[in-house]
Amino acid sequence: MGGREATMVLLDENGIRCDGRKVDETRKITIKAGVLKNADGSAYIEFGDNKILVGIFGPRDVHPKHMSDTDTGILRVRYHMEPFSVTERKNPAPSRREIEISKVIKEALEPAVMLEKFPRTAVDVFIEILQADGGTRCAALSAASVALADAGIPMRDLVAACASGKVADTIVLDVNNEEDQAGQADMPIGYMPNLKKITLLQLDGILTPEEYKKCVEVGVNGCKIVYELQKKALTDKYFGNGSD
Ligand code: UDP
Repeated sequence: MGGREATMVLLDENGIRCDGRKVDETRKITIKAGVLKNADGSAYIEFGDNKILVGIFGPRDVHPKHMSDTDTGILRVRYHMEPFSVTERKNPAPSRREIEISKVIKEALEPAVMLEKFPRTAVDVFIEILQADGGTRCAALSAASVALADAGIPMRDLVAACASGKVADTIVLDVNNEEDQAGQADMPIGYMPNLKKITLLQLDGILTPEEYKKCVEVGVNGCKIVYELQKKALTDKYFGNGSD
C-alpha cells in the first residue's frame, strides 16, 4: 500500500467521508433512458465518476437454436469494461471478474423480467463500462433495468441497486473506489422496491450480525433513492421533461 492510501482519512471527526459526503449520502446520480437509436432499448447512468452505457436487443430468435427454451425467454448479459475505463489499461478480453459480474447482474434482473411471455427468444443486455470508480455492478444493474423497460419488455418491477459498506468502523451508504479498497466491507444490493424483494446481495469483508442488518437496511434505503431516479428517467423520456 502506498503512502497516500496509508494516510488517507476515510471518515473525519465531523463524520465526513473522503469525498465530502455524509455517511448516508449517495454520490451524484443521473440516469437517462433511450440514448441509442439502433438498440431496442438503452440507458446511460452517471453514478459519481462511474459512466455506463447499456443497450438491449430483443426479444429475438436465439442462435444457436439449441440454447433456446420452449417454455420461456432467456436473458443474456454481457458486462464489459472498456480498456480506458480504469487507470491501468484493462485488457479488452473478458476477465473472470467480468464473467462473474455478468452472471450476477443476469441473476439479479431475472426475477424482474417477464421472460415467460416470450418463449424461445433471448433478450440481450450489453453493458459497457466507460469509466469505473467503484460500484459499477450496482450502477450497471440499475441502468440495465431502465434499458429493459425502455425496450418495452414487461417487468414486474425495476431493480434498483446501491452498495453499503463499513468504513472506519462505521456503516456507510454507496462505497466509492477508495473506500472499497481501504474500507472494511462492501455490500452491493439489488432491490425491487415495489415488490420489496432483494435480487442481489454480495458481501466482501467481515461484519457482525448487527452490522450486517444495518448494512442491508442502509443499502436498501440507497436502492429506494436510485428507484426514484430510474422512474424519473423513464417518465422524462416517455412523458417529456420540458427540455426535449
Ligand atoms: N477496477 C480496476 N480495474 C479492474 C477492475 C476494477 O481499477 O480491472 C476498479 C474499478 O474502479 C471498480 C473497482 O475497482 O469499480 C471495484 O471493483 P469491484 O470488483 O469491487 O466491482 P464494482 O465495485 O465496480 O462493482
